[in-house]
Amino acid sequence: MSKHNPPPHGVEFVAETALPMQRGKYRVRAYRDHISGTEPLAIVWGDIEGRTGVPVRVHDECLTSEVLGSLKCDCKDQLDHALDYIRDRDGGVVLYLRQEGRGIGLANKIAAYALQQEGLDTVDANRALGLPDDARRYHAAAAILTDLHLDGIQLMTNNPRKIERLQAHGVNIQGRIPVVVETNPHSEGYIEAKVARMGHMMEAEDGDAPQRSIIALVSK
Ligand SMILES: [Zn+2]
Repeated sequence: MSKHNPPPHGVEFVAETALPMQRGKYRVRAYRDHISGTEPLAIVWGDIEGRTGVPVRVHDECLTSEVLGSLKCDCKDQLDHALDYIRDRDGGVVLYLRQEGRGIGLANKIAAYALQQEGLDTVDANRALGLPDDARRYHAAAAILTDLHLDGIQLMTNNPRKIERLQAHGVNIQGRIPVVVETNPHSEGYIEAKVARMGHMMEAEDGDAPQRSIIALVSK
């Protein structure tokens, strides 16, 4: 891919390097998304290019938990879980998309936290600020999966909307891998709101029946 002529889908591959990390030596592939103006990353374990059924986590940046160690959400735990999962199971991909706060940005997220301190839940706080519940976009994820020649994936998520959005961008989701992480007293309210108000699924990893029902649900 030329660095000077971005492809029609707007996402340009920039470079790949091996990156020694605390949990192992992963490959990281950097991209430039000319539509959103962000730089998404693919964190890869194993020779997954061209395989089917590869575990993929489409993860959205969360500076507050991942950098600052905030306990208000479970994003860092989900990221760590996904990185361990792909390392321990013969390869996979974590796509790291730069859309903080479900896409509303860091400052808006802090403003929403301020309202949550007054008692609003995560959905009502966004609405009080005139912001969408979820502003995330997944065109870049679809483009990167195409770049990696992944025609069919197992998506690591609890979020039915994410499955639906990715399918709308042509991603072939063959199954779902639940992401099971511990809650803490600070994140319980947020996670309860995600289940009650955004349809997140929080059942344990216990077989393929939930996967089939989810796929049937979103392919209607
Ligand atoms: Zn978070």
